[in-house]
Amino acid sequence: MKALVKTKDDVGLTLVNDIPEPTVNPNDVLVKIEKTAICGTDLHIYYWDDWAKTTIKIPTVVGHEFYGKIVDVGKDVKHLKTGMRVSGEGHLICGLCRNCRAGKKHYCRNTLGIGVNTNGAFAEYMSIPAHNIINIPDDVDDNVAAILDPLGNAVHTTLMYDLVGEDVLITGAGPIGLMSLLIAKKVGAKKVVVSDPVEKRRHYAATFGADFTLDSQEILHHHFDDFGIKEGFDIGLEMSGHPDAINAMIASMNHGGKIALLGLLPNGGKVDWNDIIFHSLTLKGIYGRQMFDTWYKMIALLQSGLDMNNIITHTMPYQEYHEGFELLKNGNAIKVILDWT
Ligand code: NAD
Ligand code: ZN
Repeated sequence: MKALVKTKDDVGLTLVNDIPEPTVNPNDVLVKIEKTAICGTDLHIYYWDDWAKTTIKIPTVVGHEFYGKIVDVGKDVKHLKTGMRVSGEGHLICGLCRNCRAGKKHYCRNTLGIGVNTNGAFAEYMSIPAHNIINIPDDVDDNVAAILDPLGNAVHTTLMYDLVGEDVLITGAGPIGLMSLLIAKKVGAKKVVVSDPVEKRRHYAATFGADFTLDSQEILHHHFDDFGIKEGFDIGLEMSGHPDAINAMIASMNHGGKIALLGLLPNGGKVDWNDIIFHSLTLKGIYGRQMFDTWYKMIALLQSGLDMNNIITHTMPYQEYHEGFELLKNGNAIKVILDWT
């Protein structure tokens, strides 16, 4: 089969034409991949940064955001059939640790990432545990089904706290921050303010319904009057992974405010602990999505009108993957779909 593989200790991926199809273990299914989406993680792997160099074994088939159809079913899988439209959870869990056994699978301490620690979805076929499979209802579009993984990050983070009627700050208008904006507006947040240093990103946020957008160089509380906010934000969603954004957020929260942290920070980022203590803030780290409650919630949100169509800015044949990575690297796309059909 054909697949996009990290084959060299260098920038880029290789389109390999003849790797063996994956074997289907008794509890796995084989998915014929139809659409995949490029994630920030794939960019790290493609452009081969320090994280990627120390994490990715060569060779690895990359990619974990996918949609496809089941074409083979392991002998012990009873509840899935060939032909089903599916996506799936990209985190493989052990099932044995204390959290897994307590049903808190998203806290599994032995989690492995598809397309990071194991062969992934940028391929004609992928074998995946049946446990990870999500059936896609007929009214959810193929391309949208390919971005449920990051949408799950956004849904899980945004719904971490009750934000109905609350003033919300989102730092970072990347794909996930923009998805969170759409979710926060849909579920009834009061004011949603989005900060980002990049003008184009702020433009997307404004188009997608942000009440205010702000260059992250500016001081948030200087603009409270413009925002119509008196005392500070009630809820913060950190979606940039930039230490300055966390500090700006902490400094602009109302006392007792709640912050959900999704963005991954570089080593050594500092925060002012006394601001957290004196302002009685609650901080929650977010990793992945809830297995599988987030999947139910996000499919329900989509079915009740959450519109992801503007989030997908580009679709292209998988052979043109170079262009997709470049568009994302240069900030000229939100989500890019690679078509494998
Ligand atoms: P992205 O890198 O595409 O977007 C980040 C955005 O933040 C960009 O638009 C950038 O201009 C903006 N930004 C940079 N500095 C800023 C600042 N000081 N203030 C405000 N905005 C700033 O990322 P993404 O794909 O949207 O993902 C968001 C973050 O979540 C990333 O850090 C990613 O690594 C992380 N992530 C975490 C998980 C998890 O499970 N915890 C899962 C997926 C992604
Ligand atoms: Zn576990």
